[in-house]
Amino acid sequence: MNDDCLTALSDILEGGELLLDEADRSRYASDGSGLIGDLPLAVLRPATTERLAGAMALCARARIAMIPQGGRTGLSGGACVTGRAVVISTERMQGVIETDADAMAMTVWAGTPLERVQEAARDKGLDFPVDIGARGSATVGGIIATNAGGIRVLRYGMTRQNVLGLEVVLADGRIISRLGKLVKDNSGLDLKQLFIGAEGALGIITKAVLQLKPHPGEARVVLLAIPDFPAAIACLARARKLFGDRLTAFEGMWPDYWEFVCGKAGLVRRPISGTHGFYVLAEIVGGASTAAEIETWFAALSEEGLVEDGILAQSLAEGRSLWAVREAVGEVDDALGSHINFDLGVASSHLGDFCKACDDRLAGLEGAGQVLKVGHVGDGNVHLLVAHDGRAAVVHAIEGAIYGLVAEWGGAITAEHGIGRLKRDWLHCSRSAEEIALMSILKQALDPAGLLNPGIYPGVAADSAG
Ligand SMILES: Cc1cc2nc3c(=O)[nH]c(=O)nc-3n(C[C@H](O)[C@H](O)[C@H](O)COP(=O)(O)OP(=O)(O)OC[C@H]3O[C@@H](n4cnc5c(N)ncnc54)[C@H](O)[C@@H]3O)c2cc1C
Repeated sequence: MNDDCLTALSDILEGGELLLDEADRSRYASDGSGLIGDLPLAVLRPATTERLAGAMALCARARIAMIPQGGRTGLSGGACVTGRAVVISTERMQGVIETDADAMAMTVWAGTPLERVQEAARDKGLDFPVDIGARGSATVGGIIATNAGGIRVLRYGMTRQNVLGLEVVLADGRIISRLGKLVKDNSGLDLKQLFIGAEGALGIITKAVLQLKPHPGEARVVLLAIPDFPAAIACLARARKLFGDRLTAFEGMWPDYWEFVCGKAGLVRRPISGTHGFYVLAEIVGGASTAAEIETWFAALSEEGLVEDGILAQSLAEGRSLWAVREAVGEVDDALGSHINFDLGVASSHLGDFCKACDDRLAGLEGAGQVLKVGHVGDGNVHLLVAHDGRAAVVHAIEGAIYGLVAEWGGAITAEHGIGRLKRDWLHCSRSAEEIALMSILKQALDPAGLLNPGIYPGVAADSAG
């Protein structure tokens, strides 16, 4: 990075917005993926859209690659620095700008943590329904850029379904702002959709208008121990019929995962004794009669032989302790050792057979170790954690085996975490050559020099001077 560019950046940015000290910069090299990133040339943390746009225009003119970062909780390496690049962080762009309770819309800065948005909505008697385990650190910009899913997709959809408007800065510094609260808008292409799920490769999101929902009421949490995966699908079908869209979560834990977090690794207390073929954590919202309705559902399931045991949480604290079993997936790293964290999508009706096929294929693979499976059953999304002996060839063989199966089953190599830098080479297992070529055309149109988050889209080389 030349001195002229540095001088121009320090002229545009205010105190504390430009970090050049090596110790400061090293904190921004990596994200939650475990990938080891390179040291960024500089970290830019503008607090306004105009200063961010000015800084990006300068970087573009100097042909310097730019890596957008939010809370750095991403699990695919999308915010990880590779090569000679500056980091553009939204951490100083925080806060709620406006809440319009009548339109049920909230305008926020992109660097605002998700949990702060959820709390601000709750203060107005409303709800922002996107929810993920990393809610305390993940930012609005990050969840939009990754089109995050999480635990309530079943009822509310992915992040995409909960965004009304965006302000975005393109690689050359142009500001594209459409921050209306319009629910219906067919005046031309819905351009915001281009940036949702683009993992920061098409533009940097600076503000967003989020669609809020009425507060759904008290949530009741129930844990079911059931004979096998087909029984889980049958329980889900009956729950959908009985509770409709009051069913907000239907999460699944395979026995390998359950025994690991409750037994071998001792991460959480075992809430149900005995061994069972599958475990489901469901959340149902509603009024005072919800508990009685759940009891009725449970009794009917027992009669059909679809459940073997269960617990209905009697308090918020008990509900949280049941959720802790499911969320312990965020804590398995040390106990499991080296592993690959797959985030796979197939039709929910195929999920059980698909997981069996994964187990079978991994069983014959040298160097592959313990497999843990946990996921969002209602969304057909499994997080498959596969331990390995650390050799690069083994990692490649495991990835090849699993992504090969994804291709055979017509699934997604990533259901919610994004392709980032970890999965980009396997995109062809989910997308056709024509689709990948179209992604490259869009990237070229918006960022011809390939400076914004280079390496996310295959076939687009950065024209970076560094
Ligand atoms: C414990 C734990 C649980 C998780 N659970 C889930 C889950 O259930 N569902 C799920 O989907 N994910 C989950 N994640 C993954 C992660 O939290 C999400 O991907 C989250 O959306 C990332 O937000 P972030 O602000 O940390 O983004 P970062 O990690 O900083 O960045 C993620 C990507 O978005 C880009 N980006 C960030 N901010 C912007 C911006 N303002 N404009 C443009 N691009 C930007 C980055 O370049 C990168 O490509 C989990 C992670 C952890 C650690």
